[in-house]
Formats: sequence, C-alpha cells, structure tokens
Amino acid sequence: MQYKSWRIAIAGAGVSGFATLGHLVTQLRDRTETPIQIYLFQPERTYQEANLTEAQQTRLAHFKALDQQNPIGSGQVYDPVQPALFTFNGSSAVRGFDFAQQRFDTANYFNWVQANRDLLAALYPDFAPERGQQRHRAHTLDDLHGTSPRGAYGLYLDEQFRRLLAHLPSHITVQTIPQALQSFVPSKQEVHVQTATASYWVNQLVCATGHRFAPIRPEWQGQVFSAYPCDRYGAELPANLTIVGAGPSGIEVALHALHNLGVERVSLVSRRGYARLPQIEPAVPYTCPWLTRQQMQRNPTAQRAQYLLRQSLLTAYQVSDIAYPGWEAMLHIEDYGRFLADYLQQVTPAHPLARLARPVMSFYGQTKDLLSSEEQVKVRRLLSSMKHLFATQSLAGAELMLAAMQAGRLSLKAGTFLTHHKTPTIAWPSNEQWQPNSVILATGFDSQISPIYSLAIAQGAGVVDDDGKLVVNSITGALINAYGTNTNCYRTAGTSLSSVNQQAAQTAKALVRQMVLSPET
Ligand SMILES: Cc1cc2nc3c(=O)[nH]c(=O)nc-3n(C[C@H](O)[C@H](O)[C@H](O)COP(=O)(O)OP(=O)(O)OC[C@H]3O[C@@H](n4cnc5c(N)ncnc54)[C@H](O)[C@@H]3O)c2cc1C
Repeated sequence: MQYKSWRIAIAGAGVSGFATLGHLVTQLRDRTETPIQIYLFQPERTYQEANLTEAQQTRLAHFKALDQQNPIGSGQVYDPVQPALFTFNGSSAVRGFDFAQQRFDTANYFNWVQANRDLLAALYPDFAPERGQQRHRAHTLDDLHGTSPRGAYGLYLDEQFRRLLAHLPSHITVQTIPQALQSFVPSKQEVHVQTATASYWVNQLVCATGHRFAPIRPEWQGQVFSAYPCDRYGAELPANLTIVGAGPSGIEVALHALHNLGVERVSLVSRRGYARLPQIEPAVPYTCPWLTRQQMQRNPTAQRAQYLLRQSLLTAYQVSDIAYPGWEAMLHIEDYGRFLADYLQQVTPAHPLARLARPVMSFYGQTKDLLSSEEQVKVRRLLSSMKHLFATQSLAGAELMLAAMQAGRLSLKAGTFLTHHKTPTIAWPSNEQWQPNSVILATGFDSQISPIYSLAIAQGAGVVDDDGKLVVNSITGALINAYGTNTNCYRTAGTSLSSVNQQAAQTAKALVRQMVLSPET
C-alpha cells in the first residue's frame, strides 16, 4: 500500500476496544509500511473511595502509587479495583489475549496468574490461598478451571496492552486519549470525532463503548442504585436491602452487600422468583438431536420450538441417567432453595443441563431467520422462561448464595420493579405494591439507552453497508453489524470473551480490507 498516513479512532478501551486494537496491529504488522496512527479514547475513572472495602482501597492505593489507576483493556467488566467476589465463571470464560505473541487461549491467562501470584495475593487477599482467607474453595488461583476475580483479568489485559505497545511495528503509533468520545459524523473519506474539548479527523472509527445499563431517575437519587459501578453505593445501604434482578449480576452484587458492605439481609427480586443456576462446561460434546435448524425448518413456530425443547430435556435426562423432574417442575419451581440445593448435589459436567446449555443458547440464533417476527418474539419468550436453567453464574457463586439462603440472609421473591413510578415501587404477583427504602437495580442491559451514536445520527450521519442499507438501529441509534466496505464506522461488542474476540478479529479484518481498497490519501 502506498498511503501517506492512515488514522483510526477506537472509542472505549474495555476488552472490546483492546482486542480490536490487538487484532488490528496483528493484521497490519507485515501488510503495509504506511504510517498508521491509532487513537484510543478512554475517559479516566474515578471512585467514591469511602464506599470501597479495605481490600479495594489497598488495590487502588497500589495502582495510584504506580500511576496505573487507569488500566487499558479492563473497561467496566474487568475493573481491577472492583470487589474480588466479582468473578469469572471458571475456565469457560477465562481466555487470554497476547497480541505480542499473537495468542488467544486459556493457558495464557493461567500462566500469567502463576507468574504473578505474589502480587495477586497482596491485591486480592480474599482470593489468596497463601493467606487462607478465600471465601470459597473454588476461589483459587491454583486451578485452570477454578474461579478467579475478574479484576485480576483486567490487570492481565493492561499488562498485555503494555506488551503490545512495546512490540509495535515502527509504522504503527498508538495514542491513548483520556477523554470520552461525545459525537461523530462520518463523511465519505473521513470521520469527524469530537470529545468535550477537542476534535479529530480520522479515516475510520470503531465504537467499543460497552454495555449500557438501566438509567436511574433523578427522583431516585440516593435510594436506587445501578449494580455497576458498585462504588456508587455502600455507606447509604440499609440493613435490609432489595436487589432487583437475580441473574449473575444480582447474585454477585448480593454477595458483595452481604460479605463486604455490612448488609444483614438481601431480598433478591425477579419476575419469577428464581435465580440463575450455575452453568458448567460439559465434559463430553453432546449433539442434541432436537434443537436443530433442520427440525425447525418443517414448522418454524414457537409451538414447535417448545415441543423440541421438551423432547431435548427428556432425552438429555435419559442419557444422563438422572431422574427427569418434568417440564412443569422445571418451569414452575415451588421451592427455589430446595431446587438449587438438589442441583448443586447432582451437578457434574455430564449433567443434562450442562449438555443442553450450548444447544439452547444458540437455538434462537440458528433459527431466527426461519421465524416470522411474531414467532421470533414468542420463541424469545419461551427461551427466557427457561433462562434460569441455562445461565452462566459460577458454581462458587451459587454455593455462597445457597449458604446465605440457609442462614436466612438471602431470600428470593417474585416481583416486578415498576420503572415508571416516581417512588421506587415493586409489584408482587398478588398485585399489591411495596415501596422499598433502598434498591439496587441489577436488571442488565437496556437497549433503549442511546449511546453516542444517536447524536451522530441527529447531526445527519448516514451509515450504510455493502447493500446500501442503513445499518443503524432507528430506535437506539446504534450501529449494527457494520462490516461493509462502504462504511467507515464500525462497532465491536460482545457478551462473552469468545464473542468479543471473534467480533474484534472481524472488525479488524473489515478495517484492513477497507484501508486496502481505499484510494490513496
Ligand atoms: C457484570 C458483567 C459480568 C460479565 N462477566 C463475564 C464473564 O465472566 N465472562 C465473559 O466471557 N463475559 C462476561 N461478561 C460479558 C462482557 O460484556 C464482555 O466479556 C466484555 O467484557 C464487554 O467489554 P466491552 O469492552 O465491550 O465493554 P466495557 O467493559 O463496558 O468497556 C467499554 C469501555 O468504553 C468506555 N466508554 C464508554 N463510553 C465511552 C465514550 N463515549 N468514549 C470513550 N470511551 C467510552 C467505558 O469507560 C469502558 O471502559 C460480563 C458482563 C458484565 C456486564
């Protein structure tokens, strides 16, 4: 290639932004000698220090002393300062990125952990077997399949970023800019990106700004908190706390409140009153004969999907030699504590639910295009009614949760948080309403919250794909699958490290392809 120079902006330096950068450098390393300038936008993070636990404060002080309180790669999810109880779901999730060695694997992170045991023991005392303080036997740095803090992974990513910088080829320059990207307007050859104080012209932009959580109404200030970042609450929490949402976030935040924040009792409220079961990696590859695209082709309806799901459960239980509790019992759990305790006793990598997790999780993606939009909604509803059986919470988290339930400190309740009420209100299934005095919302991501893209759209930005279609979600303004050669704006996001890796590799490939095809600048 013969260009004079090429500029790329990446907004967000969480794992998605970092992985995009890594794949980009890998793919451009020997491909060109054109000078390439990459801007990485990541606003500095601040903490409400009074709400941090002692171990968190020690970590923060350590990073401040080294002037490393803004690590690159960790983003929101792998923030090194967050509680050690915010963990990884064992080896299924822990993937290592090493773009200096050009590797993506599990052993890599594990090797890094082993090489940094002394540092991790000092920074994460409740995970350090050396000090005998770990909360759970599976909270270990010894075992590749054990559960380790997500924060430790953030430290690992930051170190990988530094290694990447040290191994950059001479034609690539990376500049981190400690500011948020506020808007962008793409034009034919370039994208105009703006922060609060500066603007830049780049050839390509990648948005990797992460998840957006449910907003907190101004009237709820001091009474309702979002689960993350968790240093926004602490001292204000009452002895009896309500957490809405019983997925992995609700559970880890409940454990943080009970173990670290002096909360005596937590009520975990979810629509059905169940939490997610821990999901473990299946021991043997299991081919599910029922939940397949082929089976749906004949009759692509939600009713058929339900039939297939029921058959799958029955068959998986039969091959596992575990008594099948029946469809109704799995869908309508009478006593969740009992159900969880039974599950924890039986669970092995050969458990029927472990075998079925992948087929069920990928079912919608595989069959979506066969379904009418009405049937799509129904199938999503069906899968969501089974979600508690096929989740990604860690085994250690579930055992700690059960212990808290048995100690009477944690209870699960069926209820709905009414987001449109000015006073925080929960409606029980009886239709009675209750106004809790303090609530943490762990209700997950909200696609209705507009990120920076909508501002760009309002300013007249048109983003099109190869077919000339607008690749922007008209409600959220978010870019969708923008891998076409006609667009110079891209998006990387993922709901697991594997999907982040895949998306980042794909985005980098699209960026390089577009760069190669572009006329000389
Ligand atoms: C609580 C939680 C637990 C999870 N646990 C796991 C797990 O165990 N295993 C797994 O595989 N996956 C897990 N995931 C999935 C996770 O979403 C992905 O693995 C991945 O971490 C998402 O990273 P990200 O970089 O897209 O987002 P983030 O980590 O949110 O990073 C986005 C970054 O962009 C920055 N940013 C935001 N707006 C702007 C702006 N305008 N300009 C510049 N920068 C901006 C933010 O400050 C942040 O640093 C978890 C997700 C959550 C929310």
